[in-house]
Amino acid sequence: VIEVGAPEHSVVTTCAYCGVGCAFKAEMRGEELIRMVPYKDGEANRGHSCVKGRFAWGYATHRERILNPMIRSSIHEPWREVSWDEAINYAASEFKRIQGQYGKNSVGGITSSRCTNEETFLVQKLIRAAFGNNNVDTCARVCHSPTGYGLGQTYGTSAGTQNFDSVEETDVALIIGANPASAHPVFASRLKKRLRQGAKLIVIDPRRTEMVKSAHIEAAQHLALLPGTNVAVVTSLAHVIVTEGLYNEAFIRERCNWEEFQHWAEFVADQRHSPEEVSKVSGVPAQTIRDAARLYATGGNASIYYGLGVTEHSQGSTTVMAIANLAMCTGNLGRPGVGVNPLRGQNNVQGACDMGSFPHELAGYRHISLDEPRQLFEMDWGVSLDKEPGLRIPNMLDAAVDGTFKGIYIQGEDILQSDPDTKHVSAGLEAMECVVVQDLFLNETARFAHVFLPGSTFLEKDGTFTNAERRIQRVRKVMSPKNGYGDWEITLMLSKALGYEMQYDHPSQIMDEIARLTPGFANVSYEMLDERGSVQWPCNDKAPEGSPIMHVNGFVRGKGKFIITEYVATDERTGPRFPLLLTTGRILSQYNVGAQTRRTENSMWHAEDVLEIHPHDAEQRGVRDGDWIKLRSRAGETTLRAQITDRVSPGVVYTTFHHPDTQANVITTDFSDWATNCPEYKVTAVQVTPSNGP
Ligand code: SF4
Repeated sequence: VIEVGAPEHSVVTTCAYCGVGCAFKAEMRGEELIRMVPYKDGEANRGHSCVKGRFAWGYATHRERILNPMIRSSIHEPWREVSWDEAINYAASEFKRIQGQYGKNSVGGITSSRCTNEETFLVQKLIRAAFGNNNVDTCARVCHSPTGYGLGQTYGTSAGTQNFDSVEETDVALIIGANPASAHPVFASRLKKRLRQGAKLIVIDPRRTEMVKSAHIEAAQHLALLPGTNVAVVTSLAHVIVTEGLYNEAFIRERCNWEEFQHWAEFVADQRHSPEEVSKVSGVPAQTIRDAARLYATGGNASIYYGLGVTEHSQGSTTVMAIANLAMCTGNLGRPGVGVNPLRGQNNVQGACDMGSFPHELAGYRHISLDEPRQLFEMDWGVSLDKEPGLRIPNMLDAAVDGTFKGIYIQGEDILQSDPDTKHVSAGLEAMECVVVQDLFLNETARFAHVFLPGSTFLEKDGTFTNAERRIQRVRKVMSPKNGYGDWEITLMLSKALGYEMQYDHPSQIMDEIARLTPGFANVSYEMLDERGSVQWPCNDKAPEGSPIMHVNGFVRGKGKFIITEYVATDERTGPRFPLLLTTGRILSQYNVGAQTRRTENSMWHAEDVLEIHPHDAEQRGVRDGDWIKLRSRAGETTLRAQITDRVSPGVVYTTFHHPDTQANVITTDFSDWATNCPEYKVTAVQVTPSNGP
């Protein structure tokens, strides 16, 4: 037990790790944070938390944090500490030079799902108003962009349909491609409680996750499918529902287009989608598919929760739409206990998407080519905006390699570690003439940077985060920024130096602008959030109390749209050289690439990444538990220790991606979702051989 003493005051704020959005009381002595206490009135967590939010905040004062701006004219030179003025002016003059030499579209930027709504909004505003193009993207590109596309197409808006409270009324929870016990622990606890009360569980996942173990064996169905076959399995569930007449005709006739449904029903009823046929490609026994479909359709309130095991595939968007079809055809939408719920990984990935971080959309998911919303922003910002969509992150990197994209402003994102095909990312960054990185630490991407702007932590700024249930919550400054400025102030300085001055004295004024320009946020203000605690968007005159559940009386798009979801096998195939399929995930005590969790004092954070391999596959390769192995794909190789387990099926291996030494993304491919370019992290053909170590 460490004696930390009594606090002098406390500040309520929001966890900056995952999309659950737990509220905490930061207990302070002067400027020193002594304890994070889960806040009992937090509406997303109700006094609960996991180890990350409660204990992993030491990175804020870690010795490796960079506190002074730095510049260098070449990535081969050492860094030189400079004043803020010099760093900002250098970055701005380089961006101006590049645009003068190579054209307006030769620069762009990336917003961060780690930063606040207000900061994200400012970065996309800077790109659109100061750079004069739409080359802005966000890390949702590599996680939940298929959610945006898929739910946008089917329901008309890009967000989960329910609040977390809804799980308390679910009778059947279908979890696909997610392991909330590790990645969204506080939500997982609520789900486990519901399972203990008798709710049934269906898990569609290549791996037997903790969630499968948490339910009574007779109450849990595990569809251990081969990575890459989500669309086949979900469409087969629909096949059973349609061919056995288990669909909800009244709901479909009232809420959807009946002719579209009939066309879709004809498609899913085809024999190629039968459990017997799908069993051959997915490896899931036909009877298990049949049982799961019947349970989902007839078991009462049925909810779907999904994660990156759905989206990070070449058919990520198709799977999201297949899931949306399933909920619509059974009428499991628009009331408590049901719905389609993407479990967002990062604290503010929902908010980053809401704030217009995509190259084709303004805040509130309005296409940049639409005159009405674009003109609204033009009038408010006093500039004329380009109506052509800009470049996505992978397109920016491609254009950099081709020599037409030369400068980038990256706030709070380590694309060299987190994006696929590391060689291509480094080639793109190396080809640029001005890379500006704004971050807490000299991350991997900063190896290619010319300007480093020290970022601030969530403890050092005011703002808001939006969690996975669309809940907007306050982030409150508990200490002064160690680097001197909040991230939002740094963006303001850069924009001013670029010749486009934005005037805000406090982030609350940025939220006022967001509310003015974004119909779903129209009634949101800091005053209201401070009074009420939080609110779920849409929050406007039509829904002054916010919207815990969406699509209650009708879909945002009008009629719900059934979309044909043909299964197409990924181009990433196994073969004699690469006979195993690798998929990836997380552990509870680490967060993403570990930039924060690895920089805390507690030794439990430092567990290494291991490769889970089935006993049969291990024996064939002469690999024993704990041995070093070499993991090779067509793209690259890395070295890990083996962990022999039957959590994975024969033919499937699994690892996490928390440690930079492991470099899991060195071996992932450059295949991506057909609609959004979200990388296919979850399917890589690999070989495993014994090794002597790294
Ligand atoms: Fe933070 Fe998520 Fe853990 Fe809550 S569940 S404390 S939001 S990491």
